[in-house]
Amino acid sequence: MSLRVVWIYPDLLSTYGDHGNVLILERRARMRGIEVETVHVRSDERVPLQGDIYLMGGGEDRPQILAAQRLRNDGGLNKAVAAGATVLAVCAGYQIIGQEFGDDQDRPMPGLGLIEARSGRGQVRGVGEIVAEVDTQLGLPTLTGFENHQGVTRLGPSARPLARTVVGVGNGDGTEGAFYGKIVGTYLHGPALVRNPGLADLLIAWATGGPVRQLPPSWADRLREERLAATRPAPTG
Ligand code: GLN
Repeated sequence: MSLRVVWIYPDLLSTYGDHGNVLILERRARMRGIEVETVHVRSDERVPLQGDIYLMGGGEDRPQILAAQRLRNDGGLNKAVAAGATVLAVCAGYQIIGQEFGDDQDRPMPGLGLIEARSGRGQVRGVGEIVAEVDTQLGLPTLTGFENHQGVTRLGPSARPLARTVVGVGNGDGTEGAFYGKIVGTYLHGPALVRNPGLADLLIAWATGGPVRQLPPSWADRLREERLAATRPAPTG
């Protein structure tokens, strides 16, 4: 079995260690005997159509606009999704896969329309740890991550919130992220898949036609526990 992973626009979209999402996918697939080939696609290159999992990270406001324009002109990601590809898009990437997002002046910019979501600029910047309980449909443990974004996101009926926010801002309405088919959008950095290996395994299962074998606990589980503990209020007395 093999997996083709496509890392979209590392020159524009890769903040707070989002590249770690690529590394953890590679590692958890290889530990199960799945061969992995990863392609890094810079913003002046065509997006290949044959990927199984496409990953996008976060970005500053201006690089985000440029990335959205180039991805729309390229059309490759939309074609790959139409052919059944799996997608994880983080923060700026999450906003880009929606129908529109606000630029630095909150003017609406067109996104890729891969999920029914619209983002604009919120009143406050969401910065810090985020904890969220995942939609029971997906059967995943509590999400932990780091967020830093001005954007707030509203979902249309076909997109389901990925999780309910317990700590932090997420979409800005008590929910965090979105999923639709094999597409996941989230505000979580951390990187998201390192802190949430269950989410990495879900993407691998979707892309390979799953299910995937359980892996033994690792340092990533200790990281999860440490970060979740850091958000709990200190005991009094
Ligand atoms: N520019 C976007 C915002 O502020 C995304 C930020 C990010 O990707 N960290 O909402």
